[in-house]
Amino acid sequence: MATTIRTFPGFIDVHVHFRDPGVPEAETTASGLAAAARGGFAAVVTMPNMTPACDSPEWIAYQRDAARSAGPDAPILLPSACITKGRLGHEVADLEALAEAGAAFFTDDGSYVADDRVMEEAMRRAAGLGICICEHAMDPKEVKDGVIRDCDLARRRHLSVIPVSAETVAIRRDLSICRATGCRLHIQHISTAEGVELVRAAQKEGLPVTAEATPHHLLLSCERLPGDDANYKMAPPLGNDEDRAELRRAVKDGVLMFATDHAPHPAAKKSLGFEASANGIIGLETAIPLTWMAMVEDEGMSPEAWAEAWWKMPRSILSPRAAKRLEAARKTTVEVGEWRVMEVAKFASLSRNCPYDGMESVCWPKI
Ligand SMILES: [Zn+2]
Repeated sequence: MATTIRTFPGFIDVHVHFRDPGVPEAETTASGLAAAARGGFAAVVTMPNMTPACDSPEWIAYQRDAARSAGPDAPILLPSACITKGRLGHEVADLEALAEAGAAFFTDDGSYVADDRVMEEAMRRAAGLGICICEHAMDPKEVKDGVIRDCDLARRRHLSVIPVSAETVAIRRDLSICRATGCRLHIQHISTAEGVELVRAAQKEGLPVTAEATPHHLLLSCERLPGDDANYKMAPPLGNDEDRAELRRAVKDGVLMFATDHAPHPAAKKSLGFEASANGIIGLETAIPLTWMAMVEDEGMSPEAWAEAWWKMPRSILSPRAAKRLEAARKTTVEVGEWRVMEVAKFASLSRNCPYDGMESVCWPKI
């Protein structure tokens, strides 16, 4: 089959975890940016759940300095910043100073901001600054000690289950604060059909709400897990076939954008089975081939609409300062038509927690 080359405005991944400061053996800024470049991305937004958490202008500057040493051709690194001090959920961070320092948006990703009054104050102040609040929508009161959605594997292994309400209770609460404050709200890594329904209804109502779907929630289902393999353990957990179908419909309808939730971990943290292993998988170097197969090949989405979910929609959640930095972004070019296999051992990421080794795609970034 002849190959086709397509060029789009630069793709932006609005949800990546680099581990510097914290766990540089899992991912440094340089290795993360190298993975982003190999994956075809022009820019990435780093989550602030580093150690220490990125809750001050100093940590934004630290990441920018680290990105500068990756060289002028590296993808653009846009740090996001915490909603709350220390990402602890108790006290709103100095959002004004973080905005001034160029934070792409505010999020406590990895944790839900459980205190209603704290979230309301944060959304009021973020609305005043014109900056988006992004939410890891998993209410711990509903999650309890759950590690997986209700499925065959959960029943066979007696694993604690995370109910759908973990996501819907969180989204409902945030939508009501969004309605009261007018703050721009973005739901990260949405995973349930019911959650998507809430976002659809909110958009119809005219609320300033967006949400993202990860490649793993679009590709994988808890109904077909190959045993106790922690490469299928995520937060939020993989949904069932019905969730996956609704997520795909919503991407096709323009309700959801893409984001990877690239989450590198050392092997030791992912080899402890479903209960004890860390959450998440790497995603930067597999995102373009996987989402193309799921959405363009399987679901018949147009390549242009697919690309917009990687560049145009992500831009809409960035602060004006972060968006301005994209003026220097490279374009994203993909090559379509030749079957190639994913070889995790060859990835630029320092981590290998990825369930897709050996999978094939016909769409690859051209670097
Ligand atoms: Zn998250």
